[in-house]
Parts: sequence; C-alpha cells; structure tokens
Amino acid sequence: MQQLTRDVVIVGAGAAGLTAANELRKAGLSVVVLEARDRVGGRLWTDVVDGAMLEIGGQWVSPDQEALKETISELGLETYSRYREGDSVYIGRDGALRRFTGEIFPVAPETEREIVRLIEKLDEMVAQIDPDKPWEHPDAEQLDRISFEAWLEEQTPDQEARDNIALFIAGAMLTKPAYAFSALQALLMAASAGSFTHLVDADYILDERVVGGLQQVPLLLAERLGDDVLLGQPVNEVHWSDDGVRIVTDADLEVRARFVVLAHAPILYPWIEFQPALPRLKQQMHQHISMGFVIKVHAVYDRPFWRDQGLSGTAFSPYELSHEAYDNTNHGDERGTLVGFVSDRNADDLFRVSPEERKARILESLSHYYGPEALNPIVYFESDWGAEEWTRGAYAASFDLGGLTRYGADLRTPVGPIHFACSDMAGAGYQHVDGAIRMGRLVAANILDGARS
Ligand code: FAD
Repeated sequence: MQQLTRDVVIVGAGAAGLTAANELRKAGLSVVVLEARDRVGGRLWTDVVDGAMLEIGGQWVSPDQEALKETISELGLETYSRYREGDSVYIGRDGALRRFTGEIFPVAPETEREIVRLIEKLDEMVAQIDPDKPWEHPDAEQLDRISFEAWLEEQTPDQEARDNIALFIAGAMLTKPAYAFSALQALLMAASAGSFTHLVDADYILDERVVGGLQQVPLLLAERLGDDVLLGQPVNEVHWSDDGVRIVTDADLEVRARFVVLAHAPILYPWIEFQPALPRLKQQMHQHISMGFVIKVHAVYDRPFWRDQGLSGTAFSPYELSHEAYDNTNHGDERGTLVGFVSDRNADDLFRVSPEERKARILESLSHYYGPEALNPIVYFESDWGAEEWTRGAYAASFDLGGLTRYGADLRTPVGPIHFACSDMAGAGYQHVDGAIRMGRLVAANILDGARS
C-alpha cells in the first residue's frame, strides 16, 4: 500500500475541494486532493460529444455569484453573455404557445396579478432570511413543516399562478416536486441567489458563460496543485481521532493527516466507512438529505434556426416535459445549440422508456417551443447525473420536510478532524459553483484557525 503524510487531505476535486486545497496551500499547509473519478471538476464537466463542445454539468454564472466571478477573473478566464435577442415563448395551461418579452409570462390578466403579488410577497419573505441561517427566521419552524406546494395553495386559488411560481424553485432549482420540500427550503433557495425576483429573471440567473467551458475553473485550480491532485482514488475508509485521520482509498493508498475535508455531495457520506462511526446526529441528518434529479438535454443544429423567427431561444412551460429551454450556442460557433431541462417526476418517467423513445419525447417537447426543425438535431446528448456513482443526482442536495430546522445548523459542523464543504451546504450560492467556492474558502479558514490553536 502506498503511503503519504500531509497536513490536510481533501476528498473530492470539485470546485469546493480544489478551492480549499489552494487556500490551505497558500497558507503554508501541505495538502493532497483525492478524487474518485479519472477527471477533476465533479459536477463541472465540459466535453466534446460527436464534435460538439457541451457543458455536461454547471455552466451559467450570475451577477450575485461573487466568489465564482472573482475566481474566474483571477484565473484569467473570459466570459460571454447568453444569447437573448428577440422573443421568449411560453406554453400555458390551455396548451397555447405565446411569445413574450420581459420576465412575466403571457398569462390571463388575473393570473398575472397573482404572479406579481406572489413574487412581491416572496421577495419580502426572502429579504428576512439569512441564507446562512434560515432556521433563525422567526417563522422557520412553521415554514419548514409545510410543503412549498401546500404553502402556495394557501396563497392563491389560481392554479396557473401557483404552477409558475412553483416552477422557479421546484423544477428549475431544487429539481424535486414542490410537495417534496418545505416552504423554508424554497425561501433558502431564493435567498441564496439574493431574491426571488432573481430566480424569475432568466437574464439575471443565467447571465454569462465561460469561453471554453466552466470546467476550466477546476482544471486550472488543479493545475496549481500539480502532483498533489490524485485521480482514480475513491476514498472508502476514514479512521479518525483527536490526533488526526488515516484515509484509505480503493486504489490502495493510505494518507495520514491532521485534518480531512469531505468536499463532495453530503448524500455520499454513507458510502464511506468511518472508524469510529460519525455521531448519531450526523448519521440521522444524512438520511434527511437527498439529491434532486434533472436531465440536461443538449440538441445541436447546423444553425440557430429559431433566431430567424425572432426567437431568443428562451422557453418556459410548467406543462411541458422540458419545462425550460435556452439558446446555448457556444461562443463563436456557427452551429446553434439548444439546452432543455426535464425535471423530477418527468425525468423519472423518461427513464422508464427506451432511450429512443426518451429522445423522441424530449425533442417533441422542444418542437412545441421552436417548431418542427427542433426534431432533427445533428448532435443530441442527455446529461444524466443520476447514473454517476460519485454524484447520484442533479443539481444538488436539499432537506426533506422539517429537515432544515431540525439539522441545518449542524450540517457544516466539523466532527473532530473531519470537516465538510460542498455547494450543497452553502448559504449564498447554495447549489451553485459560487457556493462550492465559498464553502471551500470557509472550510480552509476554519482549518487554519484550528491548526493555529
Ligand atoms: P462536486 O462538483 O460534486 O465535487 C465533488 C467531487 O468529489 C467529485 O469530483 C466527486 O467525484 C468526488 N468524490 C465523491 N465521493 C468521493 C470519494 N468517496 N472519494 C473521492 N472523491 C469523491 N451551478 C452553477 O453555478 N451554474 C449552473 O449553470 C449549474 N448548472 C448545473 C447543471 C448540472 C447538470 C449540474 C449537475 C449542476 C449544475 N450546477 C450549476 C451546480 C454546480 O455544478 C455544483 O453545485 C458544483 O459544481 C458542486 O461543486 P462541489 O465541489 O461542491 O461538488
């Protein structure tokens, strides 16, 4: 068995782990990053599929993502705006396709009034939430024991208004049905992005992309660490005491260190054998966190044909299989790319049919927005993170009903020398790359405090 000794061992070469490793290294500590996969980046993965560069994982950068923006600029990466000229399209409850501009969908005037009223109400509530401590909100207990769907039912009898408001958090963000998470979890999601209005505004939340792909962030962070990033090293044992840790991987590597950072999705902790076991609170907590599930669909055409019709490519409908879709054409590419998303129960259903039928149904849904030309892409690919052993869902993890108030405050608390960092436990930037970077920085600061004392 190969043996190494370091000050800190980091499990996971995603944005969180690599940020932590760089911060610790800068402060003079020795580190090693152990990554299960044969690549770095985790949920950031830019790849070429049938000649098309695709962002298989995360890709968009929004103005509130200050930590990510700082990292992008520090790494010398260039960004560009998402294409947004022309009309967006919306398919309503009546099945009719309507064009629109701005943020509010073209619905009946009374539904529009309800949507605007709910957005204002949610913005007010979100303003009272500290994304780092949502459980401290005076109504936290109450809001955490009611599902977001039930909460919306209390607010308005207007089904289409509810479906649209739910979409921004459920299908589009937590990627779980609105009855499967609490109203408090919904408020945290919005608070982590600055406001509910930010989630409604596609031009804000899906603002920019990185030229050449967002995976360059982890790739460049890993480059700085050189030989201290080891691939193909799934960690399966963590032996710990007050004196430090001994980590064992599936590839016969043993690392002794003063601290370990588990920098991966919290739903994966139970796959590691802890000696001694983690405290009972953590063991309970980890059973109340689960990943959402979304299929990200990429369809590349020989040109962005929708632009000829004056369409921006932005499309929404709570009633379509692909509940949202965008022009995702790469910087400087003559071909046109659409990206669509199929979430939660719709995604479950699609994995019950053959790959051919799945593709046909998804393209059919895209054609409802863009017309028959959408049926025949030259490249087609589905990002299926549910099948990825080292992620097991997308985009990220959230608590079940009541879990946030019951366990949230302890999610990041270290256990002896074991520290935790991941986008899935961030306040600001929760579920996003920005949150991963913030958590990487925070865990490094906490370890440095501990190392000095
Ligand atoms: P991860 O990226 O999951 O990294 C964890 C790493 O740990 C992985 O590399 C994994 O292989 C490794 N690992 C796990 N277990 C072990 C083990 N036992 N031993 C060793 N290694 C292990 N965010 C945005 O900001 N904008 C977007 O547009 C966006 N879109 C997204 C689209 C999709 C399809 C997905 C999946 C995510 C998207 N996200 C987006 C979310 C964003 O990608 C993630 O929040 C972020 O990348 C998570 O980073 P992380 O470092 O916290 O975790």
